[in-house]
Amino acid sequence: MRLEQLLLYNFRNIERTELHPHHLFNIFYGDNAQGKTNLLESISLLGSLKSFRLSRNDELIKNNESYSEIKGETEKNGVKHQIKLRIDKENKKAWLDGKRINRPEAYLDCLRPVVFAPEEVNLIKGPPSGRRRLLDRAVFQTDNKYLADVQKYDRQLKQRNRLLKEKRPENELAPWTDELAKTGAAIRHARSRYIEKILPQVKDCYLHICGQQEQVNLFCKADTKDISELEQNLLDEFERQKEQEKRYGVTLSGPHRDDIDFLLDQRPLKSYGSQGQQRSFILAFKVAQALHLKEVYGEPPLLLFDDLTGELDRHRQNLFFEFLLSLKAQVFITTTEVQPLLDGGIRDGYFIRVEQGVFTTTVSDEV
Ligand code: ATP
Ligand code: MG
Repeated sequence: MRLEQLLLYNFRNIERTELHPHHLFNIFYGDNAQGKTNLLESISLLGSLKSFRLSRNDELIKNNESYSEIKGETEKNGVKHQIKLRIDKENKKAWLDGKRINRPEAYLDCLRPVVFAPEEVNLIKGPPSGRRRLLDRAVFQTDNKYLADVQKYDRQLKQRNRLLKEKRPENELAPWTDELAKTGAAIRHARSRYIEKILPQVKDCYLHICGQQEQVNLFCKADTKDISELEQNLLDEFERQKEQEKRYGVTLSGPHRDDIDFLLDQRPLKSYGSQGQQRSFILAFKVAQALHLKEVYGEPPLLLFDDLTGELDRHRQNLFFEFLLSLKAQVFITTTEVQPLLDGGIRDGYFIRVEQGVFTTTVSDEV
């Protein structure tokens, strides 16, 4: 998967730019607050329709302008597509090959970027919603049905909560309880299958690239692989919480409340792990996600690294660069310091200087 051309218009501090990225490394360098992360965010938005910064629409539009536009030409398995995203204050609209999309699957198939952002380490200590988002976004990337199930679950949940709030009788609630258990079971099933698939790679990367000794583990709520048992478990949970649900007027258990356990030698990473171990775990998760995508689609996904050199010490950085070089993915990196990348053997690509939202492309010899 490759981004061959990128056009930005009024995106954050970038007024207008056209880039023709290198098929391997694209290193955006420059001082603080110049627009490096903004550029990375634009690619993540274009490719996944979501920002890793959880920004509001108006923040994405250049100050005092009414809309912004991100356009890209992509290539996957020899097939090219044009994708476009237009953001105005109220909504985002997307086009694939000149046509407005109504279902996102084919559009999302073009780039499937995996983002590595330093603030993601906060997910480990933060509320469960952040960890669910991390996992859900990874599952979306390889399972189109999962996106549909999550959307369906949200609709059913809203409806059930409304009935609970209005204190409607049991016979009105029951069909929604059954439907929610069915969709909820599919979500728990998909989450746990995904973890099962990537866990060996997460462990391997944590040991070999991050150079850490501990055994890592990941769990999400799913006591069985049998989907009808999962459904029954959810019905039992609803039954146990019945009185409390009536009192509070909300659905108190289900995949929207589940946590994802990150474990280090069987202890919780959030209370037991150091900052470096937490960072390594997230990195290992993302590397495993990228390798899994490569396995599924036959091509590596786009990799986007925000502030890479701030993430790892020199030794681990070099191990990580070796991994990146071997993956042959298209990589976008932002950094304030290019020297560690050059020292780590990353030369085959473009080095793009960023100054106040303006981009100047050079090669490694000219940096
Ligand atoms: P650092 O090295 O500190 O991470 P950076 O180059 O990654 O810096 P960005 O996060 O890309 O910096 O932000 C660059 C600038 O963009 C900031 O000064 C910010 O104020 C500005 N900015 C953000 N949103 C908008 C917007 N909607 N309109 C205009 N400027 C904006
Ligand atoms: Mg930045």
